[in-house]
Amino acid sequence: MGARVRVRFAPSPTGFLHVGGARTALFNWLFARHHGGDFILRIEDTDRERSSGAMVQAILDGMEWLGLDWEEGPFHQADGVQRHRLDALRLLEEGRAYRCFCTPEELESKRRMAEERKEGYRYDRHCTLRVPREEADARAAAGEPFTIRFTVPEGETVWDDVVHELTRFDNAEIEDFIILRTDGTPIYNLAVVSDDHEMGITHVIRGDDHMSNTPKQIMLYRALGWDLPSFAHLPMILGSDGKRLSKRHGATAVGQYREQGILPAALVNFLALLGWSPGDDTELMTLDELIAWFSLEGVNKKGSVFDPEKLEWLNGQHLHRMSAEELEPLVGERLVVAGLATPEELAARREWFHRLIELLKVRSRTLQEFVPQARPFLVDEVEPDPKAVKKHWAKNPVEVAGYLRRVRDLLAGAGRWEEEPLEEELRALAGELGVGAGKLIHPLRVAVTGTAASPGIFDVLVLVGRERVLARIDAGLERLEDLAAEG
Ligand code: GLU
Repeated sequence: MGARVRVRFAPSPTGFLHVGGARTALFNWLFARHHGGDFILRIEDTDRERSSGAMVQAILDGMEWLGLDWEEGPFHQADGVQRHRLDALRLLEEGRAYRCFCTPEELESKRRMAEERKEGYRYDRHCTLRVPREEADARAAAGEPFTIRFTVPEGETVWDDVVHELTRFDNAEIEDFIILRTDGTPIYNLAVVSDDHEMGITHVIRGDDHMSNTPKQIMLYRALGWDLPSFAHLPMILGSDGKRLSKRHGATAVGQYREQGILPAALVNFLALLGWSPGDDTELMTLDELIAWFSLEGVNKKGSVFDPEKLEWLNGQHLHRMSAEELEPLVGERLVVAGLATPEELAARREWFHRLIELLKVRSRTLQEFVPQARPFLVDEVEPDPKAVKKHWAKNPVEVAGYLRRVRDLLAGAGRWEEEPLEEELRALAGELGVGAGKLIHPLRVAVTGTAASPGIFDVLVLVGRERVLARIDAGLERLEDLAAEG
């Protein structure tokens, strides 16, 4: 690649950072990082009514959380309005654009007439064909409001899209579009071209929903006498029903995934695979690998389906690969928010907490999934889940109580409170009683965790601690007596 790569992410701050925008940001960022270029952030806030400062902040927060840092910006498109206007006026001076005095009502009635004739509507060029330049100057000088329209040249507009290859638009399909509104503010296509040129953007990488803007922008580049950047239009992101991904498909805002306990590294990995692949079927990738392997040539043309299951799977994979040390603040925060522990309590039992994290991380697909699993290790008492009671206690409460009493005695007298000796002793007891170890372990698990599913029972015993284990067994025995009485 010749000149230094300069790319930009240019969100309109009319909503949160969504999956589609985040994917666009990521592909630009990866491309910049891969080529050692610059990633620029530009907030496209010329539509003042729809833009808000809170949304700008939400977008910046989302980018920071994902780790997509930028070299320059955030620039605000609205700050460039004067320059956009000068570019439009230059096109007017040079005869590449004209003033249009048609009122919204006139345009609306022409549109309706075209509709009645079942014709596609395009501006009929009234103000360039029927209003001589001198008249237009005079009307403008007299204060009559006007827009500025670009004169679309004849022929076709062709570009070699990095993703979609040779792409053509027949200019006859494109009307003389407005570039400056009556209030002197620019229309999107002009502002983008003006800014991309000013910022020295070499590659415009964006969603293919912008494909129909590109011929207009190319015409503007040419009319303004500027070099074209390369264009790469990223394939659509689809919901499971094959339609463009939208809120109907559930969570799409980056912040919602953060809340659910998705890791930024996993979301980045997942987003990278929405329309790109490293050329083989590798899916699990670190940020460094993504940077090393990313290329626009690896982007496919076809839309790709957003599969939330796959995101959770990938997140689980990233979680498993993180150390307890790395996970500690992330998991700790969630336990504190859930009211299960205070930061001080966790800090005081750091080694214990690390063991708990190691135990639970292989069973968690999101950070949030740590919370219910960690509960029995943090609370004083557990409330047995009725389904677990039904399955492992209720069928034969007398027999179960008998086993549990033996287990209680064993645990009360056990020497070392560690996994291996506890397991040996319990298995020996099962042998002595002539039953499989499961007969002891299942009811014990219900008593100690309140559930029928948990990590290995010996790990659980060690981390819950002897005192609480015995108290929970006692509570369980009382329940079993009631069950037996009801029986
Ligand atoms: N502001 C536009 C949007 O949010 C993007 C403009 C561009 O990438 O050219 O869709």
